[in-house]
Amino acid sequence: MNQTTREPETMVQTVYSITVPAGDVIFRQGEEGRVAYIIERGKVEVSIDQDGRKSVIAELGDGEIFGEMSIIDDAPRSATVTAVADTALVVVQRARFQKPIAAANPLMKLLLRVVLSRFRDAQRQLSGLRDNSRTPDTSLEEVRKLALKRITIEREMRGGLEASEFVMHYQPIISLETGGIAGFEALMRWQKGDGSFVSPAEFVTLAEETGFIGELGRWSMEESLAAQIRFAEATAAAEAGSPAPFMSINVSGYQLSELTEIAYLADIIESSGVDPERIKLEMTETLLVQDPEHAAKALREIKKSGVSLAIDDFGTGFSSLSYLHQFPLDTLKIDREFVNNMESSESSERIVSSIAQLAHSLNMSIVAEGIEKTEQISALRDLGCQFGQGYLMSKPLPADEVMALIRSKPRW
Ligand code: C2E
Ligand code: CA
Ligand code: CA
Repeated sequence: MNQTTREPETMVQTVYSITVPAGDVIFRQGEEGRVAYIIERGKVEVSIDQDGRKSVIAELGDGEIFGEMSIIDDAPRSATVTAVADTALVVVQRARFQKPIAAANPLMKLLLRVVLSRFRDAQRQLSGLRDNSRTPDTSLEEVRKLALKRITIEREMRGGLEASEFVMHYQPIISLETGGIAGFEALMRWQKGDGSFVSPAEFVTLAEETGFIGELGRWSMEESLAAQIRFAEATAAAEAGSPAPFMSINVSGYQLSELTEIAYLADIIESSGVDPERIKLEMTETLLVQDPEHAAKALREIKKSGVSLAIDDFGTGFSSLSYLHQFPLDTLKIDREFVNNMESSESSERIVSSIAQLAHSLNMSIVAEGIEKTEQISALRDLGCQFGQGYLMSKPLPADEVMALIRSKPRW
């Protein structure tokens, strides 16, 4: 056992090549593994140690992969691999897979782990190791529980959508210039059969994780655009000549990550009969920061429908100012955290003021979120913010209450 183990420990690149001379051990049974290998040229032998006796279980050649299991779970190497000829290997680092695996759907994770676990069991039996040598895989148990929880919630959400447990509420966005209603933000609500409300902050994340946000998002868009038509009629009836209110709809990054999903949304917009100039889509900056190239493409695509685009919760994310002008954005929504602390914290006021200046220079409009005090309205107006939204004016309301509000011709 004087051969050196060649397992590369820390390399910056996630994929690179190495050459292993015949006779060298690439990794040993029981060692920790962080990389997988693809054989470019050469031959390796896979062996297991049975009570001190080496038993060869496979020979692998060009194009074959080994060591792949450690990329998925933390279990130690289940076999020893030795080069039996001079062998050129492509090394694939675990780091390359960690992100996509961590981001994968919990069911997908479960599937990977179960297949792996069964494979390891089979290998153990082959090597004659008794089952009692096996320590229970607690992390697999966790993956299993998480997957089960997700399946249950996804089923509940699907059932909930069919049973009309989801409803849209609408929060007025006012013009700070006139004090009247300029538009609405559509906010989803889930009222379960037992009457309890689940916060969108909770279920939107779950819906994103399970992929159900696609269906839910299409439903919310149809619903909100149908409501916009009613609100526009009510506005025209209440105040002749005043412009139809816009409808600002939240879209999650997931909905914009697929071009087919964007095409669905474009269809809904087109067939809704709502003037696209009266439609705004809100998204958070994470989408833009994570994959700017795709985001730029996706936003250009969705902009073809004629809608305008807003960045939500501006100032809370990475807020790399350099990205702003790369995207076809129309509105910045200043996060309520800054608006709320404006008079108590000088830095919050400066942030609001800088965001306002930034928006002006980029020719974008501003919506200040979370207005709860009268003084905030005038302060925001002085800073040149065009729109405001918050509990001071109104909480998000069901459509019928919005209709009554429009008829009352409110001014703030
Ligand atoms: P958001 O897009 O930032 O929505 C604004 C949230 O601030 C809403 O919470 C609203 O009720 C709340 N809010 C408005 N004014 C005030 C105020 O003056 N003070 C305080 N404290 N809060 C105020 P909500 O409705 O619970 O929504 C939470 C989040 O869930 C939303 O944050 C959004 O990220 C997500 N969400 C809601 N509806 C949808 C939807 O239809 N689609 C998607 N993708 N996400 C949604
Ligand atoms: Ca929003
Ligand atoms: Ca927001």
